Amino acid sequence: MNTIGHYINGQTLADSGRLQPVFNPALGEPVRQVAMASRATVEQAIASAEAAFPAWRKTPPLKRARILFAYKALLDKHADRIVAAIVEEHGKVWEDAHGELQRGIEVVEYACGAPEFLKGEHSRDVGPEIDSWSEFPPLGVVAGITPFNFPSMVPMWMFPMAIACGNCFILKPSEKDPSAAMILAELLTEAGLPPGVFNVVNGDKEAVDTLLTDARVKAVSFVGSTPIAEYIYATGTAHGKRVQALGGAKNHAVLMPDADLENAVNAIMGAAYGSCGERCMAISVVVAVGDQVADELVKRLKPKVEALAIGNGQTRGLDMGPLITGVHRDKVKSYIDLGAEEGAELVVDGRTLKVPGCENGFFLGGTLFDHVKPGMRVYKEEIFGPVLAIVRVASLDEAIALIDAHEFGNGTCVFTRDGAVARHFTDSVQVGMVGVNVPLPVPVACQSFGGWKRSLFGDLYAYGPDAVRFYTRRKTLTQRWPSASIEKAQFAFPSNG
Ligand code: NAD
Repeated sequence: MNTIGHYINGQTLADSGRLQPVFNPALGEPVRQVAMASRATVEQAIASAEAAFPAWRKTPPLKRARILFAYKALLDKHADRIVAAIVEEHGKVWEDAHGELQRGIEVVEYACGAPEFLKGEHSRDVGPEIDSWSEFPPLGVVAGITPFNFPSMVPMWMFPMAIACGNCFILKPSEKDPSAAMILAELLTEAGLPPGVFNVVNGDKEAVDTLLTDARVKAVSFVGSTPIAEYIYATGTAHGKRVQALGGAKNHAVLMPDADLENAVNAIMGAAYGSCGERCMAISVVVAVGDQVADELVKRLKPKVEALAIGNGQTRGLDMGPLITGVHRDKVKSYIDLGAEEGAELVVDGRTLKVPGCENGFFLGGTLFDHVKPGMRVYKEEIFGPVLAIVRVASLDEAIALIDAHEFGNGTCVFTRDGAVARHFTDSVQVGMVGVNVPLPVPVACQSFGGWKRSLFGDLYAYGPDAVRFYTRRKTLTQRWPSASIEKAQFAFPSNG
């Protein structure tokens, strides 16, 4: 079985320390192992990034962008190889893996605009013969720590923008599906990125804690579960770093009685069960406004959930693959047990699914609960699996109050044909990313991605314009060239008054 090491200073680096198996979740068997970086290995990556920084910082943004243009072409050329690695180690279906890679490439495309977004701001004549302007220099060595559920897209939310801004980057991908990140690193070198500007350290808490506490790392971007996001934010900021830590979610879709029901049902199916529900923007709760629309929703959803095409994601045309690990599958299963015990109505039970040819895979069928109540744990907690809960309410304001009372505020959407309803919903709801008849309102690369409440710790969102601010530090210059005349000392605070 081959072993994945690290990518440091433009080269793969073997590591004979601690190893962990990487599984193919569709088959339920290990396919390779991954090295768990020690503190010393992470320090080697930090040293390599720090050594590369002075020259990279001085590289004109246009030249950085040219490397990213070449990178985008290489990503297109090698897309099938990256997608195959994602499907094998994550288990999501081929078309979905292709979609996530494409969304990552879109961030690379946006990052090619570095000469434009690093232009700075200029004010002439702010005082007598005085000009003032802001520049946005890079921070130095920055790090990204990413989750298992988007092995290519979430790293690409971070590093294209960080390196376009002139930083050197260390990625600590998920230990559950690390191969895609290693391909992304090799292709950056092939595109012409100097050694040390981008490094990958594989590993777990030991690697993460080294990145969080080493003074040479100036900023940390994190995406993962809320308890770890909170830990990353607290530890990183206590060590003087800038931190953005994106956490978990429980995304509600509100279904109004006037909605285009068949389109809404199809949208809900994809958003709830796509990627086996392992998306931070997955719809996990539908709030149906009125019993009539709720009954009709359940009637239409039930046969579709029962008919989900589930299997090994390498087969084209499937709807859903397995969950990431056996442990996670068992956890999701225990939530289905719990929901039934708590008194929710189990309309479709995915616990008994068997996938021929994949008997040891980590599969669960699509599951649907009706009459879920806000006090239930299956409502309150992030399940991160193919389990959809329907909650019934009497009015739009009751739906909004429910969403606002939830601890998470990542994404939400409303299905309606009424513009006034849509406007009231988008204006009032306390959630960071809001859709109208769009079930997964994941912002495009020229916007920025982030949730509210306990879905994000920090101030700035991922990618887009917020990433420029996150990965640079404002420096404001005020300049005057004294004329030949001698000026007296001025003791009053200078102003234009
Ligand atoms: P996770 O929190 O278990 O792991 C994320 C990263 O943190 C991994 O690289 C992991 O190695 C590291 N990590 C885990 N435990 C750690 C510890 N004790 N100390 C230091 N580092 C640690 O998350 P996951 O299971 O890989 O991903 C699923 C979660 O990510 C879900 O909660 C999902 O909602 C969330 N997520 C959020 C977003 C978002 O944008 N808000 C996007 C994708 C995923």
